[in-house]
Amino acid sequence: MACEAECRPLGVFECQLCALTAPYSYVGQQPPGTQSVVLLEESYVMRDPFTPNKDRFLILGSRCGLCGRLVCVGPECSLFYSKRFCLPCVRENIDAFPQEIQQDLEKRKVPSKRPASQPGSRT
Ligand SMILES: [Zn+2]
Ligand SMILES: [Zn+2]
Repeated sequence: MACEAECRPLGVFECQLCALTAPYSYVGQQPPGTQSVVLLEESYVMRDPFTPNKDRFLILGSRCGLCGRLVCVGPECSLFYSKRFCLPCVRENIDAFPQEIQQDLEKRKVPSKRPASQPGSRT
């Protein structure tokens, strides 16, 4: 009964980079049922479906502080540096980020060696 209002998803979160989708039940910085938890950013949150604990929740993602794109918290899609940034924005403004972020991004980069000839002509 009490669950109905609380558990009903507000909508479906969709990462605009990797197309991850998941229903979210809360948007904000303090998920319901968590007394002491305050998130550093306004986040899309869902109750952790894998545990009966009411105070367990998953952060799905949030908006990029630069372009406003909705991105998940996955390392392929965004990083948090005082606020959330999507990786495309980070790459565009990489000089504005400290070296540790730049190095971190280098590490994340999947090494893809593709012949430079005829880009995009593959079918
Ligand atoms: Zn994503
Ligand atoms: Zn962005």
